[in-house]
Amino acid sequence: MLRLISMLLLFAAAADDNADNRLAREIFRELIEINTTDSNGNTTRAAEAMARRLTAAGFPEADIQVVGPNPRKMNLVARYQGAGRRRPLLLLAHLDVVEALREDWSLDPFAFVEKDGYFWGRGTSDDKAMAAVWIATLIRFRQEHFVPDRDLIVALTADEEGGDSNGVQWLLANHRELIDGEYALNEGGESQMKDGKYMLNAVQSSEKVYQSFRLEVRNPGGHSSRPAKDNAIYRLADGLTRLSKYQFPVKLNEVTSEYYRRMAMLSTGQTAADMKAVAKNPPDRGAAERLSKSSYDNALLRTTCVATRLEAGHADNALPQTARAIVNCRILPGESPAEVRSTLLRVLDDAKITVSAIDKANPSEPSPLNPEIFRTIERISSEMWPGVPVVPSMSTGATDGLFMRNAGIPTYGVSGFFEDVEDTRAHGRDERVGVKQFYEGREFLYRLVKGLSRL
Ligand SMILES: [Zn+2]
Repeated sequence: MLRLISMLLLFAAAADDNADNRLAREIFRELIEINTTDSNGNTTRAAEAMARRLTAAGFPEADIQVVGPNPRKMNLVARYQGAGRRRPLLLLAHLDVVEALREDWSLDPFAFVEKDGYFWGRGTSDDKAMAAVWIATLIRFRQEHFVPDRDLIVALTADEEGGDSNGVQWLLANHRELIDGEYALNEGGESQMKDGKYMLNAVQSSEKVYQSFRLEVRNPGGHSSRPAKDNAIYRLADGLTRLSKYQFPVKLNEVTSEYYRRMAMLSTGQTAADMKAVAKNPPDRGAAERLSKSSYDNALLRTTCVATRLEAGHADNALPQTARAIVNCRILPGESPAEVRSTLLRVLDDAKITVSAIDKANPSEPSPLNPEIFRTIERISSEMWPGVPVVPSMSTGATDGLFMRNAGIPTYGVSGFFEDVEDTRAHGRDERVGVKQFYEGREFLYRLVKGLSRL
């Protein structure tokens, strides 16, 4: 009898689970099929569609806002009222997607397709899975009459990928009260698998800072039949060659040292020893040099600056009057773009090469490794994927997390949608997410939000 009851309970749980999956899938489908590219898409339609879902689920109109700077780039902000014992928890995702051309893809990027164990479509991995799950989670909580100890705020925003109506910046500047909270969960976490094996669940707590510089050499030029010794192209090329040989100093922060301490436990041999040694204060130089052979580790350990564009001269038969290069830097949090510029000047070592910053950088401090958040992520992650470690990480790229961190709202990138590290298609063609991985991520994020807001 007991056995029968527990079997029945199991069936009941499975049926419920399927209903949750069906709802999340339906919301996901709706989001994928709304084109939200900057060129000819529209985030307002997506924001309104999600608002309609919440209204239909019984959310009061007053708790759902569709707001933004212009009719094509609105954002959704929805509040799930809690008991008010703690400051709100913000659940962030962006609605916009990177451009996708039908002729580049093997399927229609704006049609939601389930095939071969994957959901296909632009935004399936970046970032509409998360947006769909946040909405599905709020609806599920409401059906359960769940009362969180704090308000939960879902913000689905415009122009994270580009365009000039970045929703997070706009909300912080114009409606801070709508999205103010203790901390935020966002994209940027990486749940990594390799050949079907789940490797690790990385929680992004820090990001490098993006800053490009324009290098320029000017010269009077002249006829190329009578070359002068002083040549703009050679001067710039020599400077760039010096830069190519330069490495910025190794520097670790709280996030990267913890990352290496934990990765050391998962690795073997020399790599494990090096990861352990580099996490020490001060970091072991030999270990850092060996690890730096991997471009990923190199980017974690130091600021990097690399030449990405070059242009010079104006005619085949004239001496160049200008030579220009773009150097793109990814700066460690805590280092200033001004410091990096002086390092560039010193390394280029030629007073004729001018160095000017392109646009103003947006440096952001790492979010503290909040033990409550990490303990909860670890607990739920090990319930769902026993033996898969949780590690804090620093993104070598950038997300909206930096604007949040700069506004004093610590932000953690956490996903639960496991993806093959050798086959990431965000921003690329035939973007997809595993069906199983999408449903697991849905359950993981649902439990996580509950775990972080339980009375
Ligand atoms: Zn994204």
